[in-house]
Amino acid sequence: MYARPIQQLIQAFSKLPGVGPRTAERFVAHLLKSGKKDVAELSSALQYLMSTTKSCTSCWDFSDRSPCALCTDTTRDQTLLCIVAEPHDLQALEHTGTYRGYYHVLRGTIDPIDEEQMRGLKIKELLSRIQAAGPFREIILAFNPDVAGETTILALTRLIREGAPRLTVTRLARGLPMGSDLRYADDITLGNAIAHRVKT
Ligand SMILES: [Zn+2]
Repeated sequence: MYARPIQQLIQAFSKLPGVGPRTAERFVAHLLKSGKKDVAELSSALQYLMSTTKSCTSCWDFSDRSPCALCTDTTRDQTLLCIVAEPHDLQALEHTGTYRGYYHVLRGTIDPIDEEQMRGLKIKELLSRIQAAGPFREIILAFNPDVAGETTILALTRLIREGAPRLTVTRLARGLPMGSDLRYADDITLGNAIAHRVKT
């Protein structure tokens, strides 16, 4: 049986996505062996993260201010709004350099049977943002080409059309392999997918 502080940190690491108890054990063993400097670095990075990072109440990305730098950048195309599941999808699209509109981070995908997940989604915020007679003319649904992404595209298309029937709703072109993840797509493929988007 591990001592209590060790056990507590193993439990904390185990809550991270993709980290099971065995990996968590390895992380803790590594930190204990690597000495105080590395542990202090990790600890101060976590504290810095928690004390400075907040949700942008416009796009719901995480940033050091709200509204974030991207939402306040008036050189971007104000007619385009791209909806993504997670902050890393936004980063992937930005990295292509192809898209110059605004974003909305949904904070997940729509799964009607997972109530816990549904509660955290920024759907209400999205719909009021679209319906606030804003300048948006096109809503781009940039989700992973998998079952969760397809379900979300169908549901969002319906919700957006109900509230704002005149908006054009598009999705990424079908160049990305089914089951793939936007975050791992290369810039050219992802850039092409958003450049050649199609109506839903
Ligand atoms: Zn923002």
